[in-house]
Amino acid sequence: MFEDSIKALHRLNAVGYGIEGSGLILDLVYNPSGAFLPGNQSALEHEFKLQMKRRYDIDFNNLFVITNLPISRFLDYLLESGNYHDYMTSLVEAFNPATVDGLMCRYTLSISWDGFIYDCDFNQMLDLKVNSKVKHIDDFDLKSLSERSVVVNQHCYGCTAGAGSSCGGEISHSEEH
Ligand code: SF4
Repeated sequence: MFEDSIKALHRLNAVGYGIEGSGLILDLVYNPSGAFLPGNQSALEHEFKLQMKRRYDIDFNNLFVITNLPISRFLDYLLESGNYHDYMTSLVEAFNPATVDGLMCRYTLSISWDGFIYDCDFNQMLDLKVNSKVKHIDDFDLKSLSERSVVVNQHCYGCTAGAGSSCGGEISHSEEH
């Protein structure tokens, strides 16, 4: 998988993606490989650019840093490895109220393959449909959806820890785009 990914990145670079001045954007996503919060996004981006160029001759534009949320396979890993309590504590202690305005559930929706509406991909994975009388794309109604309360639970601490986390990486970073 790793070698195939490197080959794919070379092919994208060869046609201009990620190459400065081409206007073709190639962004990469990073999430930590264990039960810890990601480091600073711009510092990681700088290091990844250096190492990807030096080791693999790959160029890219932005690195999006995403926190691991305690759901699905990562939750299983936390429970099996005995890291669940410490990881949740580190997320809760790193709660940053300044991230709340930029949370992706405030301005995007997630739609499943069969048309049901969720506040985000994570809520979709947990089958937590939107808290609105409109729950399916067939009945889409912007006013009702705009007035809904987002369905939150303990996994949401992953989005609000530290610099925040969303599909566009750090919340402070993604707001710049
Ligand atoms: S996990 Fe929670 S805070 Fe994060 S986007 Fe979804 S609903 Fe919002």
